[in-house]
Amino acid sequence: MDTPRPFTPRPEPLDHETNGEEPYGDYEGGELDVAAEPVGRHRLKEVPEPAPLTEHGPARVIAVANQKGGVGKTTSTINLGAALAEYGRKVLLVDFDPQGALSVGLGVQAHELETTIYNLLMERGAEIDEVIRPTTVEGMDLLPSNIDLSAAEVQLVTEVGREQALGRAIKPVLDRYDVILIDCQPSLGLLTINALACADSILIPLACEFFSLRGVALLMDTIDKVRERLNPDLKILGILATMFDPRTLHTKEVRQRVVEAFGDLVFEAVINRTVRFPETTVAGEPITSWAPTSNGAESYRLLAREVLAR
Ligand code: ADP
Ligand code: MG
Repeated sequence: MDTPRPFTPRPEPLDHETNGEEPYGDYEGGELDVAAEPVGRHRLKEVPEPAPLTEHGPARVIAVANQKGGVGKTTSTINLGAALAEYGRKVLLVDFDPQGALSVGLGVQAHELETTIYNLLMERGAEIDEVIRPTTVEGMDLLPSNIDLSAAEVQLVTEVGREQALGRAIKPVLDRYDVILIDCQPSLGLLTINALACADSILIPLACEFFSLRGVALLMDTIDKVRERLNPDLKILGILATMFDPRTLHTKEVRQRVVEAFGDLVFEAVINRTVRFPETTVAGEPITSWAPTSNGAESYRLLAREVLAR
């Protein structure tokens, strides 16, 4: 049994999340004029509502990766997953960070679990159905991990086909899901390589902070190597600007630089910096259910539509 979580009251909308007047407005998306006055409530660019599905699978596998920590990988995995599930997609979230933050963020006491993804990687004959768990979000399941996974990283080094361990583990359920999101650890080590080796594409969250572009060259280099050696079809699905603070010029400038560097790869959806996200971790549920009408929830819904349209 999971231990009960501390009670956290439902949030009142923050001022800047209400539909009425906003103190400083939101980033509009698209062209960016850093000198412009703050704009009104964000005007979401038209991205079509995805068509409903009558049957499910085979899954698109998306690795959410950036070797920098604290850029919103885990938060984006949970909330993009939940938004995709709202659009009727069957979603599997893979916690591929030994810290287990994805599992914790979904209210799973990962350290108490008997079986995790570690067992799937290391034990022949381990059953994926015994490890997959439902989440509070209908249509979204979780493949949890905990600190055991750090041992797998060490043990895998000497295995044959060490880069394909995750691909082998999820293969039996590819037909069952529409989207599989892999939350990578903040490193370019063997676990992340495993994710990139079995993914169709990579989604890169990038914080709108001064040093965020540092390290991206190394990430691109790694993607190139994975393409050459392991997965020639690996695509960059897109770059997601996170931790955007519409009140500061600096953060707008950083996003502008990201757009200059990556053009159309940058998603229209921008994730603002708001206390809502740390709150959802305590609540153990996605923002789409915790604060369904918030700007943050809407941004992840837009991201979900963009992902489905790409
Ligand atoms: P990563 O997985 O890249 O290390 P996380 O998603 O865990 O990053 O986010 C790091 C921390 O920042 C967490 O405490 C999370 O709650 C918080 N956070 C994530 N996204 C936002 C956001 N848009 N605004 C404010 N805090 C955020
Ligand atoms: Mg994380």
